[in-house]
Amino acid sequence: MSSSDLSLPDTNLLIDGRHLPATGGKVMNTLNPATGLPITQFAEAGPEDIDAAVLSAHRAFGAGVWSERPGIERGRVLWRVSERLREEEASLSMLESVDAGKPLAATKRQDLQAAIDCLAYYAGWADKIEGQVVPTRASAFTYIAQEPIGVVAAIVPWNFPLMNAVWKIAPALACGCSVVLKPAELTPLSALRLGQIFLECGLPPGVLNVVPGLGTVAGQALIEHPLVNKIAFTGSPKIGKHILRTASDRALSVGVELGGKSACVVFAGADLEAAARAVSSGAFFNAGQVCSAATRLFVEKSVHDEFLALLIKRASAIRTGDPLAPDTTMGPVISGKQQEDILNAIAEAKRQGATVAFEGKLPTLNGYFIAPTIFTGVRPDMMVAQNEIFGPVLGVAAFEGEQQAVELANNSRYSLAASVWTRDIGQAHRMARKVRAGTVWVNTYGPTDTRLPWGGMGGDSGFGRDLGREALHNYTERKTVWIQTG
Ligand code: NAD
Repeated sequence: MSSSDLSLPDTNLLIDGRHLPATGGKVMNTLNPATGLPITQFAEAGPEDIDAAVLSAHRAFGAGVWSERPGIERGRVLWRVSERLREEEASLSMLESVDAGKPLAATKRQDLQAAIDCLAYYAGWADKIEGQVVPTRASAFTYIAQEPIGVVAAIVPWNFPLMNAVWKIAPALACGCSVVLKPAELTPLSALRLGQIFLECGLPPGVLNVVPGLGTVAGQALIEHPLVNKIAFTGSPKIGKHILRTASDRALSVGVELGGKSACVVFAGADLEAAARAVSSGAFFNAGQVCSAATRLFVEKSVHDEFLALLIKRASAIRTGDPLAPDTTMGPVISGKQQEDILNAIAEAKRQGATVAFEGKLPTLNGYFIAPTIFTGVRPDMMVAQNEIFGPVLGVAAFEGEQQAVELANNSRYSLAASVWTRDIGQAHRMARKVRAGTVWVNTYGPTDTRLPWGGMGGDSGFGRDLGREALHNYTERKTVWIQTG
């Protein structure tokens, strides 16, 4: 396949079931990160467009065209969309790979499957959003109803554009909410296609609006809109905190999935070969642009050098290059700005005294490529140990004993995920309990599943949970109903 096989979606805004240019006709380019060249232009939403999208979502919600549809029917629409994604797997993977610079095989295997699975899973939930009868006294019938929260503003980043959008949209729609989706300005294409597919699969107009645009303009107008009932955000800690501050004025319900600086702890008795394979993939998958990327590696001192050699062997096998080439395992980073930030972080790590143990090869292409890089001798006070770089950069340090491993792993502002490698079952459980992270993997790195909740335990990883039955709570309110019977 080549990028000439690209099937572009309608690049107008999707508001009230119609494809519309932006008010005032503004457009933006979306670039191919592998070449730095424009793929296409798309309509750039401004405040008036956001207002129209929220009003449309609000009207659709109030009219009950979706919120009052039987759950089984809502589920059917979600299921149909899941099937359509499966049918369009090849073209959607291509679209996503070109827009986000992701290796095509990984997009198919990971992003598309996760989105398909998520839609199918919440299709099953749509008719199982139940309340509870709570007997209180003979003279009253009292129950708790679970009702859709209303208009959801879903704001998502560029690293897994389709998957992150679906993680918000699928549970919100299963619950009967209306959604205004603001994809990242760097990767609007798969979200626009997804909006189109939803309409084609029977979602009533206005229930899902897709409005790409700048965060500071479209995003800002969305989080300030008085008719939004919930903000579901995935992105950087900086913007997440800004959204929390803005929403606090209206005491608005917000979920924030933010950054990560995930620790990976390798004990001496672990399967070192397996750990090296998993850590290399955990650190460099999606060019390290993963909220749960393995970026802090702690290895028990007695096996530090042996493990490092295994890890470098694995990292050396990474093929950085054109995302559409079949042998590419790592693509470019998303933008020139991101490339520059990562290069600055690498320079700063060197300046602070971290040792470059490995630097991969760069392709001779014009895109925004960064060589996978491993630093050793990383101290906890170094920038490379504390800041989310969001690129293919891994910092390694040695530890002695379980206590020190826990202290090092927990020495972070982030709390999204962690991984522990050990053959001692007691140690596995102790570490799973003591490491402060929303997900702890043991003897693996990185798997997520729609059925399992995903999110941080506070700090710069944010709070709230995507996925699993937990996510249904994001998009419903519990209402107490008291009927006096006597
Ligand atoms: P970002 O915060 O810059 O942007 C995220 C989204 O917010 C984009 O759509 C952007 O346009 C929008 N935005 C920006 N300013 C806004 C404003 N003032 N008001 C409203 N919306 C605004 O993040 P990014 O650089 O796109 O993504 C990278 C970050 O996302 C990393 O920190 C990464 O760890 C995090 N992330 C977290 C998870 C998770 O599940 N926890 C998953 C993926 C990415």
